[in-house]
Amino acid sequence: MIIKLKPDVDSVKAAELGKELEAFAIKENGGYVLITPNKLKKLEDKYAPFADTNYVFDDDIQLASRKYKKDVRSIRLSDNITIGSATNNTVVITGPCSVESEEQIEQAAQLCVKLGVGILRAGAYKPRTSPYTFQGMGIEGLRLLAKMREKYGLKIITEIRDSTHVADVIEYADILQIGAKSMYDHGILKACGKSNKPTLLKRGFGTTLQEFVQAAEFILSGGNANVMLCERGIRTFETKTRFTLDLCGVAYLKQFTNLPIVLDPSHAIGYAYGVPDLARACVAMGVDGVLIETHPNPAVAKSDASQQLNFEEFTSLYKSLHPVAQAIGRKIV
Ligand code: PEP
Ligand code: MN
Repeated sequence: MIIKLKPDVDSVKAAELGKELEAFAIKENGGYVLITPNKLKKLEDKYAPFADTNYVFDDDIQLASRKYKKDVRSIRLSDNITIGSATNNTVVITGPCSVESEEQIEQAAQLCVKLGVGILRAGAYKPRTSPYTFQGMGIEGLRLLAKMREKYGLKIITEIRDSTHVADVIEYADILQIGAKSMYDHGILKACGKSNKPTLLKRGFGTTLQEFVQAAEFILSGGNANVMLCERGIRTFETKTRFTLDLCGVAYLKQFTNLPIVLDPSHAIGYAYGVPDLARACVAMGVDGVLIETHPNPAVAKSDASQQLNFEEFTSLYKSLHPVAQAIGRKIV
């Protein structure tokens, strides 16, 4: 159950009630909100003086549920970029898979500026499948991303791979990314919950929609309201493509959750040839954002070389997204 407490309930009382009800207490719009386990279906009369509105749930998808907030949340990144329902924006996020050098990330930043893309994405800490491949530039990569933000006025999104560098990524990034391989990492989820930075949570490739949204609940119940969900492909029996983009799942998330949704066609298919068609299909789904990998020279990329678009391919794709968005009453930002 979610219980909105009356505006005059102070932090001490909210904490006391939270303890009694085994609930999380978070602050929303200046008031306190308690989130109890979903098995609580009815509030005892003794709580009536403190409780304003109650919401009852069938399972532990609570803060993320449309039953709780009927409109999709809005995440404001700057005067020009808001992700979520306050706008009809489909926000494009792009950049290389990894920061590899100053020259490489600067070329990507310049492409963003040239096209009017406001969010640059690249990994500094890479969760690779093999220990013998490039693991990312680490803190040096974060510094280069921050340099691009200062120099080009871009917003920066980068991934937290594990708990050793959570604080550094939170300090440097404008948007925190939790990768598919870390979706269940409670240390990362809780650290992001304590931060108020917008957080993009990717779906683990072997997880159900229920598990995915429950992972988001860890961040939301920690007090961070700025969570976005990212579908990036799940593992199926198919091996011709790297993963299978679950657009049915996206329809479910749009219908039943209040979290902005970002789609990642690049990691889903794993091959550059299919990214443009898939990206247009993603935009046509009416989602809040798309994440597309691009690299100045994909053939020599240190990670995800097969799926990154070169700048020419990305430019032509980017231009083709506008009429698709327009056709469904949305705008590419
Ligand atoms: C990435 O975004 O570069 C990445 C590693 O993606 P995922 O977590 O979806 O595999
Ligand atoms: Mn990648």
